[in-house]
Amino acid sequence: MAHSVPLRCLGCTKGLMLALILILATTTWPVQGENAFEERQTNLCEFIETLEFNGTKANETVQWQVDIGPRTPGSEASALLRANFTTEAEQLGYTVSESNHTSHGIEFTNLFARWNSSTDNADQLVLSAHYDSRNIADRDENESNRSMPVPGANDAASGAAVLLELARLIPSMNLTYDVVIFWNDAEDQNNNYTEGAKAWAGNLSAEEQNRTKAFVLLDMVGDADLQLHNVYPGNDTLKERIVVMAEDLGMVDGVDDCAGEPGQNIVQYSTTVGVLDDHVHAHELGIPSIDLMDTVYGEPKFGTFGTYWHTMEDTPDKVSAESLGHVGRLVELGLRTNAFIIEEPSSTVDDVVEDEKRNQSTSPVVEHQEGSRTLSYISMFALCSVIALLSYFEWTTKRR
Ligand SMILES: [Zn+2]
Repeated sequence: MAHSVPLRCLGCTKGLMLALILILATTTWPVQGENAFEERQTNLCEFIETLEFNGTKANETVQWQVDIGPRTPGSEASALLRANFTTEAEQLGYTVSESNHTSHGIEFTNLFARWNSSTDNADQLVLSAHYDSRNIADRDENESNRSMPVPGANDAASGAAVLLELARLIPSMNLTYDVVIFWNDAEDQNNNYTEGAKAWAGNLSAEEQNRTKAFVLLDMVGDADLQLHNVYPGNDTLKERIVVMAEDLGMVDGVDDCAGEPGQNIVQYSTTVGVLDDHVHAHELGIPSIDLMDTVYGEPKFGTFGTYWHTMEDTPDKVSAESLGHVGRLVELGLRTNAFIIEEPSSTVDDVVEDEKRNQSTSPVVEHQEGSRTLSYISMFALCSVIALLSYFEWTTKRR
C-alpha cells in the first residue's frame, strides 16, 4: 500500500529527506498567486444574475453545422463553417486568423478569433473546441454505416457552437485579459486525433506560452442528458473552480443553487475519466488546462463514450438548447469572475505518463476515482524507492 511508503522515508538521512521535500515542492503542488477569483467567488450569485448565454441560439448553430454536411478537414463544409464564423467574429471586432498544417497526410486548418482587452501586456485565455466532424462512423451498430462520416451534432458542433455564442458576449464583458477562441481542426479523423491542437501547441512562442494562463476545452457538451465528468489529465485549481461555480448554477446534485433550488446531477466530478483530448497538448506545455466533456453520450457502453459516440446517431435531436445553455453559462461565469486566470508553475509529474499515451485517441483510457492524486502518490512512491535504494547502497558501502 502506498501509504506505508512515506514512513520508510522517515529512516532516510537528513540530506535525502531535504532533497525529497525540495523535489516534491517543485513538482507537484500549485502555488496560488494574486487572483481575483477568490474575491469574486463570494459574490457568485450576483454574477449569475448578469449571465446572458443563449442556449437556443447555440442550438441553432449546432443545427446549421449539421445541415451544411460533414465538416471533415479540407471539405467544402469545413471551409463554409470557417467563412461564416470568420465573418461574424470580424463583425464583432475580433482579429481572425487561420493556420494551415499537414499531418499524417491530412491537410487541415485551425481557426482563431482573438479578442484583445484594453490592458497592456495582458494575460491570455484560450477557449477551444474542435470543429471537424469525424470522417467515419466506426462505432455504428450497422456495419454499412461505418465508412460514412458522422453528423457530429454533439461530437464537434456542440463545442464549436458554444464558442461562437460566447464570442458574441465577450466584447461586452470588459475583461482585463485577452481571449483567443480557437476552433481546432483534425481532432477526430481515422486513427489521428487532436492534430490541430498539437500543431498549435507545437508552434506556440515562449512569450505566448507564458502569458496563456489557461486552456479551456469544450467537447461533446450538447448531450440532452448532460453529465460532465472529471477529465484526467487536467488542472486541479480549474476543476475546483468549475465545481464551485457549478454548485451556485444548480448543476451539482445535492447542492442548492443561488435561487435555493436543488441542483441537477450535471457536474459529476467524483467520477474521473481519462481522456486524451486536445487539452493534453497545452497541459504538457505546463499551461493549466481543463476539458469540459460529457463522457457518456447515449447509453453507457464499455470502452466507448456511449452508444451514440462515433455513430450516425450523433444527430441534433440528441442535443438540447438547455444543455448547451448550462455549459455556456458555466464558462461565461468563469470568464466574468476570472476563474480561468491561473497563476501557477507547470505540473511535470504526469507528463511522462502522457508521453506514453500520446497519439492513442480521444478515447476512454482509464476510469478511476483518485485523479491526479494517484500520480502524486506514484511519484512519491518512486522517489522514496530511489531514496531507499540509495540508503541501502550507503549502508552496504559502510559495512564493507
Ligand atoms: Zn469524436
